[in-house]
Amino acid sequence: MTDRPRTRLFVEGDLAGGAMVECGREQAHYLVHVLRLAPGDPVALFNGRDGEWLARIDKVGKKSAILAVNSQLRPQAPEPDLWLVFAPVKRAPLDFLVSKATELGVSALMPAITRRTVVERVKRERMTANAIEAAEQCERLTVPRIEDARSLSQILDSWPAERRILLCAEAGEAMPINDFLRGADPGGPWAVLTGPEGGFEQTELDLLHKFPNVNAVGLGPRILRADTAALAALACWQAVLGDWRNRPPGRN
Ligand code: SAM
Repeated sequence: MTDRPRTRLFVEGDLAGGAMVECGREQAHYLVHVLRLAPGDPVALFNGRDGEWLARIDKVGKKSAILAVNSQLRPQAPEPDLWLVFAPVKRAPLDFLVSKATELGVSALMPAITRRTVVERVKRERMTANAIEAAEQCERLTVPRIEDARSLSQILDSWPAERRILLCAEAGEAMPINDFLRGADPGGPWAVLTGPEGGFEQTELDLLHKFPNVNAVGLGPRILRADTAALAALACWQAVLGDWRNRPPGRN
């Protein structure tokens, strides 16, 4: 396998042999002034559709850089279809949650405003920038879809019937997460749902328990912070039903 460049960039443009891809001011600055790269240096590019490609810096300017796409390093490959629906938390833990959930392979991040959610506004652009940076670092071939914050009931009103929900329930009836996952049919779309620092209100839990395809699970005897709970549940899901039997690319 062609040696993998250490630098990876997410780009919007199509990737094919001979294509010339332009990246914007911030990425040009990052390549030239942070990484001190120069024309001819290799960069791995991915766009979420065409796999990962070896490219070389062709031209650099103040406002942009042009990269010449050479050969494909990896074809696009299927990734787990796992959403994270989460009651947003304050800025620093949210930055952390978005980055780590991206590393843990979520395909979508959906902020859900619940009755006890204290955070009103969620900056989608900031979440997207954190997700792109984490996707570049962890060598995944996609960037998770980032949605605007909606109320939990709005999200449930348009919920796809076939998508199963792993409800992290700190109170009431719940099965230990590993026991539930080991008995679940593999495959199919899933979502992890976690509540706010103040927890779900009983009316929300009652609604969720009546909702089809909702499976309440416990994450042990300790009350986890909302971001910890989300990441713990995502890790359990990947380990049992997800792609953690695979190995990182090109490191056999
Ligand atoms: N205020 C709640 C309380 O004191 O009981 C705790 C809410 S917890 C900080 C935030 C969210 O993380 C919960 O709504 C739940 O989704 C998840 N969570 C935390 N600890 C959990 C546990 N031991 N089992 C299942 N879910 C948990």
